[in-house]
Order: sequence, then structure tokens, then C-alpha cells
Amino acid sequence: MSLNRETFGFATKAIHAGEEPDFRDGATGDVVVPIHLSTTFARKKVTEPTGGYEYTRSLNPTRKALEEKLAALENANYGLAFSSGLAAESTVLLSLLNPGDHIVAFDDLYGGTKRLFNQVFSNFGFEISYVDATDTSLVENAIKPNTKLVWIESPSNPLLKLSDIKAISQITHKRGVVLVVDNTFLSPYFQKPLDLGADVVIHSSTKYIGGHSDVLGGAVLVNDLAYYERIQYHQNAVGAVLSPFDSYLTLRGVKTLAVRLEKHQQNALHIAEYLSVHSKVSKVIYPGLESHPQHELAKAQTTGFGGVLSFEIKGTIDNAKQFLEKLNVFALAESLGGVESLIELPSLMTHASVAKEVRDQIGITDTLVRLSVGIEDIEDLISDIEQALA
Ligand SMILES: *Cc1c(COP(=O)(O)O)cnc(C)c1O
Repeated sequence: MSLNRETFGFATKAIHAGEEPDFRDGATGDVVVPIHLSTTFARKKVTEPTGGYEYTRSLNPTRKALEEKLAALENANYGLAFSSGLAAESTVLLSLLNPGDHIVAFDDLYGGTKRLFNQVFSNFGFEISYVDATDTSLVENAIKPNTKLVWIESPSNPLLKLSDIKAISQITHKRGVVLVVDNTFLSPYFQKPLDLGADVVIHSSTKYIGGHSDVLGGAVLVNDLAYYERIQYHQNAVGAVLSPFDSYLTLRGVKTLAVRLEKHQQNALHIAEYLSVHSKVSKVIYPGLESHPQHELAKAQTTGFGGVLSFEIKGTIDNAKQFLEKLNVFALAESLGGVESLIELPSLMTHASVAKEVRDQIGITDTLVRLSVGIEDIEDLISDIEQALA
């Protein structure tokens, strides 16, 4: 059996790509790829590694299965799996940049990515400018002769602002700049940035791809062979690879991505609509609502709106804290993308390290709450919110 990526649907690829049963002599036909724990692989002839395998940091059969599956899901030619989303980001930066190069980045990026740019890479002579990437012309105007990368997330976190990936890619291609898109929030099920013109896609597979809040991981997907070879060279040289067991857990999680995301979205839309008419809520931010300023762009560049939404509670930060501490089904926790519903207060949790003036300027108010809506029964989620708001 050989799978044709062009003709199979997303859910079929999520289950089968990279895991075709092995029917060669001596193989067992496993329908699930085994966890290959061996760190080294024996060979019969000095210069002929068996099946190309030498040492697990360079190539491991379980990780390779995951890399092939993720590539199939993003419509990418090549995939690489890393020990975390930030390990994937660091390796991409090391592979594609030289000291003195300039990065244009969205001002509403994941906090850990900003820390990596501002506290780590800036020490090695990289220059970074932040712009509001919802306005494509601001991205264009920020590009300088030494700009090598444009780095965006769409939708962003926690304000769910969108960037026009296709329009930005037309500019970066014209200017010889690499466009990197962090696709963690929607996953390839709802958005395929490479198809929209991006050059490099990054994931924290810790979130929707793994999907069960039990495995940390990252991924990089590209179409261009030269980028793939450079990033793979650095992945092996730096050593930030996903372990065989974590590759297996991620393979297991990603098989249900399509059904999980349908349910995440259905629940998120229901809660967004419920909150929109609630007297104790002043604002709901969800790209699936017509009230979202970029609802039309969301419909044009994505096939769904995801499972994360934010809203503002009327009142003070203490009212917001009381609400969060009263919930029973929603766990009060950072992170997102797992089957269980999570809730957090960005101003005191995920975005506490962002200066208050900057938070106020970009719209992260004291009473802004972020939900990662899980796949529980919607009645239980609504009743939980109802009693806590009361
Ligand atoms: C969590 C996250 C990351 C970092 O990934 P880790 O797996 O935690 O290292 C990067 N980008 C986004 C959008 C994230 O949500």
C-alpha cells in the first residue's frame, strides 16, 4: 500500500501517513510504528549504515514516521520534529540567520518567542523590530536591506489578531525575505501557511498536535530542499530532537486531530456566542464571531476558527480572579490545545512579564480572560461558566 498525499483527505493522512505497515521479509506488519529506543544502529559493512540509520540524534525510525505524517498534514515536502516548540524556533533561527541580520516580528507573539528574541538571540548580534502585522503595509515598511526573516503568528495570543499570510508572503518573496509562520493556534487542520505562501511553518506540538497535555514537542515544515537540509543539519548539530517515546505519544495524539478540532471549534463558538450576550461580559474576541474585526480574513485564509477565545469581564482584576477560582470544570492553567478546558488570566499569568504599558497599548487588559476550550460536553462547560460568573 502506498499513500498518495494529493488524493487522501486530512483525516486519512493523519492516521496513515508515515505509518504504512512494513511487509518486507522479517517485518511484522505493525499498523502502529514501534517505539525504536535504540540509540545506535548496527551495520554489516563499515561504510553502509543499515537503512540509513546510524545514531538516533541524526535519524530515528519513530521520529521519522512523525516527521512524515506532519509533513503530509501541512502539505509540506519535509518535516522535522524537535524536543519543544522553542527548540524548533531556536534551530530555525540558528540555521537561517547570521549575526547582523534583522528580523521583523509581529508585536503580539507568544511570550517565550519574544524572550528568545530579546534575551537570547539579541546577544548574538541579531536585530529585531516589532510591528503590528495586522497591517501588511507596516510589515513592508519595516523591511530593511539586512532583513532576513519575517516572523508571524496568526491568530495571535491572547488577542486573536490575524495577519494576511498571502499578502505578506507576496511582499517577502519580492524582497528576498523568508516568511516564518507559527501555526500552533490553528494546526494544519484549519490553516496551511505553506499553501498561502509561507516558507517555514513552526509548531509547538505540545498544543493541538499532541492534543492531550502530556507531551512537549515542536515541529518545522518546509517545501524547499535547501532550507530542509540546513535546518536538519543544525537539528543534528545542536541536538534538540524529539525522543522516540515522545514521538510515539505525538503520533498517537495527532491521529485524532480532525475530530478533536471540529469539537474544539464547535464548543468555542457556542461559548463565544453565550458570552457575547452575557451582562457581566464587556467584550468577546473570537475570529468565528462576525463582531471580530478580521472575521472576513479568517474565512478567507482558514478553514476554521480554532478552540481559543478571550473575553473581558466587567469590573476589576479581583472580580476576574474570583471568577477564575470559582470554576470547577475549567482548570486554571497556562497552555492550550489539550482535550481538557483550560482558563487563565494573561495579565497575571502568561503575559505577566510584559510591561503593563505595553499590555494596555496592545489590549491585554487586567480583566481579559483566555479560554482554551476543550472537548467536554458543552452543557457542562456552559453551566460551569454560568455559576462562576454568578
Ligand atoms: C507554546 C507555544 C510555543 C512554545 O512551544 P513549547 O512547546 O512550549 O516550547 C510557541 N508558539 C506558540 C504560539 C505557543 O503557543
